Formats: sequence, structure tokens, C-alpha cells
Amino acid sequence: MSKRDYYEILGVDRGASQEEIKKAYRKLARKYHPDVNKDDPDAEAKFKEITEAYQVLSNEEARAKYDQFGHSAFGGATGGAGGFDFSDFGDFGGFEDIFDMFFGGGMRGGASARRGPRRGADLRYDLEVTLEEAAFGTEKKIQVPREEKCPRCHGNKAEPGTPIKTCPTCGGSGQIHTTQRTPFGHFTSVRTCTTCHGEGKVVETPCRECGGKGIVRRVKKLTVKIPAGVDTGHKLRVSGEGGAGTGGGPPGDLYVFITVKPHKIFHRQGNDIYVEVPISFVQAALGDEIKVPTLEGETTIRIPEGTQTGTVFRLREKGIKDIRGYRRGDEHVKVKVVTPKKLTDKQKDLLRKFAETLGEDPAGPGDKSFFDRMKDAFTQRRSGEAN
Ligand SMILES: [Zn+2]
Ligand SMILES: [Zn+2]
Repeated sequence: MSKRDYYEILGVDRGASQEEIKKAYRKLARKYHPDVNKDDPDAEAKFKEITEAYQVLSNEEARAKYDQFGHSAFGGATGGAGGFDFSDFGDFGGFEDIFDMFFGGGMRGGASARRGPRRGADLRYDLEVTLEEAAFGTEKKIQVPREEKCPRCHGNKAEPGTPIKTCPTCGGSGQIHTTQRTPFGHFTSVRTCTTCHGEGKVVETPCRECGGKGIVRRVKKLTVKIPAGVDTGHKLRVSGEGGAGTGGGPPGDLYVFITVKPHKIFHRQGNDIYVEVPISFVQAALGDEIKVPTLEGETTIRIPEGTQTGTVFRLREKGIKDIRGYRRGDEHVKVKVVTPKKLTDKQKDLLRKFAETLGEDPAGPGDKSFFDRMKDAFTQRRSGEAN
């Protein structure tokens, strides 16, 4: 055998470190790469030689065998004991290095489709809650359709007990590298292997349950805790309850998007709530105790004599709890004096008599009347004192 010594080919000594071997190989590969030596018919053979030497010496196991048995370690003429199948570690190790070297980091950039753990999808679930639920918090049972790891094959896609093999198309890398030569130079593209879809592995018998997808669609029942104080537009993250990850990747998260339903009587603004309560003009005039609704049921408030329509009474901390645990909001009760529409003759009579007692002023005796103030305003405008 006239085969040259691998160390000699790479120009390194027998005790060279992996770093030195790699360095020597890169230098030679760059020099003899067929793409840069189109006119040198020997370059290709040289390139093959150095690549072969590198593949052996860069692999510690293969190198040890080579050191011990020489070329015969790799199925040479002598064959026999300690035979080492060259194809076991394939062409790929060297191949990748070359691309790495010639195309810098760009290659790696295209590697996003590589096999490996991938996180599951984040899911959105829209949930409506009542104002009371938003105010005090609640627990909601929800059903989330989502992809889950197949329980039969545990996500590995193969029918249990059947083998999973390295993809023959891509050699397990999940990628296909293609170099195109053009008048402007050569271009390399990397695409995901279509045989294994980038996984690097293929199953012989697909799992019966999931049809070889590794994931199944299930409706998951979950109980989510809705904290007090949520409002429309809030989203709650339920960690790990999204779609299943693949290749051992973690699941995604579930986001519960909150919408608070409009309330029949309360209107919300931040943590405060607003309600309008009708009162009679008699209650307004004489004062009274009136019943008002709150989020926790009815309560009674005292309105003073002479309450005007539109007056707002504040009930401290009867609003919505704060989601961060700050002070609870207030309830604002606005009273609205209702003018009676259908009066009996007797009632009309009483009102007329009552009106006589008021005189000219609707607010009754005492204050300077509205009409007096109106008169003042006109007088001022005419004399140019006001604007
Ligand atoms: Zn399965
Ligand atoms: Zn493949």
C-alpha cells in the first residue's frame, strides 16, 4: 500500500492536538478546495486525501485505531481484526467544516430549521367574566383545544417497540446543503431535509395514535384563577399550558384574554364603579334614607334635606379590588330626581298649593333667586362691566 500517512498529509506530528489538526486541515482545504482550483486536475484528489486524513484524525476513536493499526484499521487490504467502518462517521463531519470555513458564520444562520427542541405554541383563550367576578376574583373552568404530546409514543412518533433510524437523506443533520456554481462564484443554500423534516430521524412504523406526528389534538379542561381586579384587555399567563413542544422542547404558555361583560347598572372606570339611583323630589327636598345597590348587595345611605339632582355620594372602598393589592376602588352613587309623570287631581292640587308657598323662586324663599341673578347678569352686560 502506497497510501500516505495521515499525519504526513496534514503536515502535523503524531502528538498534534485537535486544534492543531483542525488548523492544518483548514489551511490545506482552503488551498486545495476544488472550487478554488478549477484548473488544477490534481486538486480534487488532494482535497479528498486531506479530508479523509482529517476525518480520521479529528475523531479521537478513529485516530486511536489509526495510531494502532494504520490504514488497515479502516478496511484496508489486511482487513481483519479491529476493522473500522469508515462510513460510520460519514462524510459529514468534514463537509460541515468546509462550509463553515468557506462561508463563515452565514451557514449557521440558515440553521434555524435544525432538529432539536422546539417550544410549543402560545395559545390565546378569550374569557368573559362578570363585573362581580372581576371585582372579587373567581375560578373558571375552561376547555382549551390544543396540541399535546402523544401519550402513546410520548412524542417520538414511532409505534412503541419499532426502531427510529437516522435519516438516510441528510445523514441525520436535518439539512440539505446545495452548492450552485455560477459565473459570479458559488452559492450555497441550506434547506430543511424533506425526508425527515429537519428532525434527522425517521421512523419505520408511525405511531398508531398520532399517525406519526408525535402530537395529538385534545381538549384540555383547566381551572384558571381569575384574580380580583381584572379588567377588559388584561391577559393572564398560564405557564406551560400552551401547545406541546417538539423534540423535547417545553410547552408554550396559555394566555387568557379577559373581557368584563357590561353590567346592567354599574359602570366601571378603573377601580371605581358608578351607579345612578332615582329618588323622588320629595326625598330630595326632605332628605331620606335610600337603598343603593353595591357589588355585595344592597346598602342604605342617608341623603340630606335639599339634595339636588346629580349629586354624587361616595361609598369608600365599595368599588373593585385593586389587582396589585392597593386600595380598593370607590362606588359613586349619583342621585337623579325623578319628576312624576302621572299625577292624580288631588296630587296636582297639593302641588299647586305648594307652589303658591314658593312664590316666584323654584328653590323657595331664602336664597337670591335665579331670576334676580339673571337680571343682574343682563344689567352688567349692558353696562359693559362684564364679558
Ligand atoms: Zn404517537
Ligand atoms: Zn433528513
